[in-house]
Amino acid sequence: MKSKAAVLEKVGEPFVIREIELAEPAGREVLVQVKAVGLCQTDMSIAQSAHQAPMPAVLGHEVAGVVAAVGPDVTEFAVGDHVVGCLVTHCGHCDRCRKGKLYACRHPEEARRGRDQAPRITTPEGQPVTQFFDLGGFAEFSITHENNLVAVSPEIPFDRAALLGCGVVTGAGAALKSAALQAGDNVAVIGCGGVGLSVIQGAVLAGARRIIAIDLQPAKLELAKRFGATDLVNPADGDPVERVRELTGGGVDAAFEVIGLAPTAKQALDMLTKDGTAYLIGVQKPGTVLEIDPLMTFNGGQKGIRGVSMGSTNFKVDVPYYADLYLQGRYNLDDLVSRTISLEEINDGYEELKKGEVARSVITF
Ligand SMILES: [Zn+2]
Ligand SMILES: [Zn+2]
Repeated sequence: MKSKAAVLEKVGEPFVIREIELAEPAGREVLVQVKAVGLCQTDMSIAQSAHQAPMPAVLGHEVAGVVAAVGPDVTEFAVGDHVVGCLVTHCGHCDRCRKGKLYACRHPEEARRGRDQAPRITTPEGQPVTQFFDLGGFAEFSITHENNLVAVSPEIPFDRAALLGCGVVTGAGAALKSAALQAGDNVAVIGCGGVGLSVIQGAVLAGARRIIAIDLQPAKLELAKRFGATDLVNPADGDPVERVRELTGGGVDAAFEVIGLAPTAKQALDMLTKDGTAYLIGVQKPGTVLEIDPLMTFNGGQKGIRGVSMGSTNFKVDVPYYADLYLQGRYNLDDLVSRTISLEEINDGYEELKKGEVARSVITF
């Protein structure tokens, strides 16, 4: 079937609105009518950076929509179900998956089409189109494996639900699952975009003591306050590491880096108390090297540094959890959605995101 999409034809160029052709859902594939898709920073990073994936491509992975058709072997979903997509492609039966560590699945390829099969997406002329993150959500329709979807209550609006699949499970999950914060922990969050604000909300849910938001944009710091930050630090006013040390009497138990730059990753390490851990969430440029003082093992009192993949999410459980919290008024998704835009406005939406003044824009159909 035909679907309108925002297509990336060349790395570094704006998205182009054009028609794509979607295959019939085969096996355990599901066709989703996309109702909302978030503008995640990761898509922009990919659209602008050198990588091996062939063009053209369809990006977009913060998807919420309605099941429009199911393949013959689909058991989990029926036409009409409200669903959220997640890019954590997984087989569902390896030892990692069975432990709920879907992000560490050993055989994600089992939930994709093989090289011997026709691609899920082509141009109208039949040329293959790369489907990023197995979702390709910047389109009216998305075809994906049922393992990449989770059902949500129809009560939750699509533009809110979309954020659950990436920004929320990543940010709140980093606090609640990757870091498993304890009540009373002191926390710093470097970078207060959509994901950073979700780390803050996760820290609130965990009962953190001080939640220090760090960002260069005053508007984002104001937002951070609304989401539960107890202290706001703007690095323009002085060294954030010193400020965090002052505020906490020596450093934080957990520092979350949500920007993806080496200097801020180093700051995350430097603002730890003994026994603290730095969590690196922001996607760093390939080839980035961090210099670390190995003495942090001994004199540093067991400091740690840990990479975070999608907030250690088991999204089939986590997405309905956050959806419930939202419906109960315990999780703020409303203020995460800065603006809803049309698919045609995607390039403007990303320009706005680049300026760093908004949390998240969401495309709605
Ligand atoms: Zn994302
Ligand atoms: Zn697996």
